[in-house]
Amino acid sequence: MEQATFSIWEQEAYLCSRDIIIVGGGLVGLWSAWFLKQSRPDLDIAIVERGQLPMGASTRNAGFACFGSPGEILEDYKTMGRDQALELVEMRYKGLKILRRHFPPGLINFEACGGYECFSTGKQYDDLMNGLDGLNKDLADITGYKPVFSPSDSSLEDLGLTGFDHLLFNPLEGALHSGLLVRALTQMVLSMGVTIFTDTQIVGWDESSTSINLQTDRGFALHAEQVLWCTNGFAVELIKGLDLTPARGQVLVTEPIAGLSLKGTFHFDQGYYYFRHLGDRILLGGARNQDIETETSTALQTTDTIQQALESFLETHITQAKGISISHRWAGVMAMGNEKKPIIQALSPRVFCAVRMSGVGVAIAPLVGQKAADLITRIN
Ligand SMILES: Cc1cc2nc3c(=O)[nH]c(=O)nc-3n(C[C@H](O)[C@H](O)[C@H](O)COP(=O)(O)OP(=O)(O)OC[C@H]3O[C@@H](n4cnc5c(N)ncnc54)[C@H](O)[C@@H]3O)c2cc1C
Repeated sequence: MEQATFSIWEQEAYLCSRDIIIVGGGLVGLWSAWFLKQSRPDLDIAIVERGQLPMGASTRNAGFACFGSPGEILEDYKTMGRDQALELVEMRYKGLKILRRHFPPGLINFEACGGYECFSTGKQYDDLMNGLDGLNKDLADITGYKPVFSPSDSSLEDLGLTGFDHLLFNPLEGALHSGLLVRALTQMVLSMGVTIFTDTQIVGWDESSTSINLQTDRGFALHAEQVLWCTNGFAVELIKGLDLTPARGQVLVTEPIAGLSLKGTFHFDQGYYYFRHLGDRILLGGARNQDIETETSTALQTTDTIQQALESFLETHITQAKGISISHRWAGVMAMGNEKKPIIQALSPRVFCAVRMSGVGVAIAPLVGQKAADLITRIN
């Protein structure tokens, strides 16, 4: 079928050149649009999203309002150095504060349920306990809270957990409804006058001396003074040279469990497994390390290998999940790199990116969006 031509109204109102086009309508794209409009209401901004919904990670994650687990933060001390690791914790902490300032808990089903990290007895746990006082002291400087992480082994049984020996509790972590969050944020930026093109993929782009030209898969091109790439794990498809690899994450959700005693967010194996209560169901994700090569992918499909690993984890560790059917399975795409900090960068005076959320974008996206907006408005 031949494509209809665009009317003058469509061309002038929708396909007109914009001040800024944001590619990617996930959390980072949305928060960036919000902060840009907040500081410069006069800017004409459009977001281009290839999914009918923002189908990357933002509506496909586990919904942890993620502060970070002690094992993971102490590992970051080793790999990134203490200062950088703490900077990342501070980003998460401040990001969550921004999030909670903008949305009443009921709107995004936010629960201040607290989080746990599970351990088996062994060197990893011993090392953690040796570093715990120092870590809590560092975190008190950031949060004013003391202690952030405390032993809670006696809760293992009450929570219905088996096959772990130790538990650490963190009162600062929470859980939310990722779909409601993205929906609320989308409504917020629409109400500020941002245009959103959904179901529209950018398939190529070039930069001239006066503008950025973006080719879409819909037979029209879009033009802007500046572009901000917020495509996270998909950034590898259209931007060269970034230290970034797509990392698929898979999730399953059980059928409702009568009298479920598990409550909170849970981390295990340095974040390779994570689970939480979701009403009276259990949401469990991770196991990427079981097949890391296949999971280095931008495909949104689940695989038998990872789903079986997740089911086996469920059977082994969560007493009340035994024999319960799985009602939902899905996959989303994160971005990882050699460093864990996000890339918020000007690639040229017209081209910017805010990518590589390292699997904690729910928490850090508000701050990343703020920093990206600051960077762009400083140059304007
Ligand atoms: C299974 C899983 C569990 C997770 N759990 C948590 C958690 O509990 N807590 C937490 O803090 N974080 C979690 N994360 C990470 C978090 O979801 C991400 O860090 C965050 O959503 C990234 O947001 P983003 O906007 O950068 O990327 P995305 O949400 O991926 O958004 C990028 C958007 O760009 C669009 N796009 C890509 N290419 C193009 C193109 N060429 N043209 C147009 N549009 C394009 C995509 O469709 C996508 O919607 C999880 C991620 C996954 C996958």
